[in-house]
Amino acid sequence: MNPLERLTKNFERFPGIGPRQSRRFVQFLLAQQGAYRAALADDIKRLGANTFQCKKCFRWFAKSQQGSTLKGPNGKVEPCCPICCDSHRDQGLLCVVEKDADLDNVERSGFKGLYFVLGGTIPLAAEDPEAHVRAREFVKRVEEDASQKILKEVILGLSATTLGDHTRGFLQEKILPIAQALNFKITSLGRGLSTGSELEYADPDTIASALSSRH
Ligand SMILES: [Zn+2]
Repeated sequence: MNPLERLTKNFERFPGIGPRQSRRFVQFLLAQQGAYRAALADDIKRLGANTFQCKKCFRWFAKSQQGSTLKGPNGKVEPCCPICCDSHRDQGLLCVVEKDADLDNVERSGFKGLYFVLGGTIPLAAEDPEAHVRAREFVKRVEEDASQKILKEVILGLSATTLGDHTRGFLQEKILPIAQALNFKITSLGRGLSTGSELEYADPDTIASALSSRH
């Protein structure tokens, strides 16, 4: 495989990108100046070193945005993202979303609570549903916040798609006993998000309306 084919194959692995778009990306890069390509390659190379995954919400963020640090379970100090470290946000509201892009979009709608990023959705016929998303980490986070009496409400902020609905049902079942024992609400996004719509592509006003009519 030559470098052109290799790059095309690599772009094809990106979410939502097919062979035709992948070839267009490569053509675009070929038409750019060498300095642009070098800077892009450099950004990709440094992505790991300059990026952290928040230990609380699991979103990715740039080192330069680091809010503060958290003490991990083994006493190790770990970076915490600016959202999780912001004490002015409503610590009692926890919105669980599928991916980082969804979090960014909910954030644009003006939501002032905290988040948890699941890292995907659960396939319909999954044998081990918990292997596909951070369901165990989510339950642990909910248990911790609820037992410290911080948690008032968990918002299941999943897309209005088949997989989003399926994942929402699974998570709800998992945390319902904790909600009953430790007294917090479980809600889902309300009207505004039409059936089939993904959170990532919904506009901020629609999300704000879905959040305010959550039930
Ligand atoms: Zn965070």
